[in-house]
Amino acid sequence: MTQTQRNEDHIEIPPDHPRYQSLLLREKVIEGYKRHIVALAGLVAHGRGEAFDYLIGEKTPKWALEQEKAAVALLLLAEHPIISVNGNVAALCPEAVVEFSKTVNAPLEVNLFYRTRQREEAIKSALLDAGATEVLGADPEHQVKIRELSHARRIVDSRGIYRADVVLVPLEDGDRTQALRLLGKKVIAIDLNPLSRTALAAHITIVNNIIRALPEMTQFAQKLRDQPKEELERLVKSYDNKKLLKKAIKGMTAQLPTLFEEKFAEVSRLFQR
Ligand code: ATP
Ligand code: MG
Repeated sequence: MTQTQRNEDHIEIPPDHPRYQSLLLREKVIEGYKRHIVALAGLVAHGRGEAFDYLIGEKTPKWALEQEKAAVALLLLAEHPIISVNGNVAALCPEAVVEFSKTVNAPLEVNLFYRTRQREEAIKSALLDAGATEVLGADPEHQVKIRELSHARRIVDSRGIYRADVVLVPLEDGDRTQALRLLGKKVIAIDLNPLSRTALAAHITIVNNIIRALPEMTQFAQKLRDQPKEELERLVKSYDNKKLLKKAIKGMTAQLPTLFEEKFAEVSRLFQR
């Protein structure tokens, strides 16, 4: 999308606006909220993600590629992989998550912190509209409860997360990530905050914006799916999440002075005309 967009308040966002991409994403989440896909708290969670994306210059850093590659290898090795989808994911990148699910042969499951029937159905429709052939998690007949969590947050699909060995949880809450791990699942998280409980609890944490991570992971999957199993196992075995999270923390902080110089120069140029 490159044409001028009108936001919520009918203010135009021209494509050459320095915050164009970020504003566009914000509009997608707001639109998702209006369509009952995103929960009110999802708007706040998006803002937290935006802040961390600022710190990595809104570009995929080197360490994230390493994390993405290992995550794809683990998903390709899984017997029952599953991709959990919440409101923010469905609002931000429905096509990308559907394409990735097809490439690694992992079904999609609606998995919600603030679960309502309306939101389940809205997310399922958004994914079907984006090309999904099947979406788990919204059919009461197959919903089961896991005891590690309380209330509506404990519901999972018996055909999906419940029996999965590897679970991809983008933008997940810490309690639920920890519960999945306690249930013996291998957990892959996509989370821009390397300090979140989700990031620290997952076996593989991808510290990148989901809108960049998923298309990159689809590319990795296209290359890796023809590799021998031993090669995928080697990738997973040699991966150390603590080491990669440290790289992310160090990378984020080390590049801040350069990022500051670039941004300062960009804004200063405006006043030199
Ligand atoms: P935790 O519960 O894991 O301790 P938290 O309570 O700080 O984390 P939550 O709201 O539970 O945060 O989870 C949302 C997470 O998703 C946040 O860590 C946020 O940084 C991250 N996030 C938001 N938007 C994106 C995005 N577009 N791409 C990747 N991560 C994102
Ligand atoms: Mg949380």
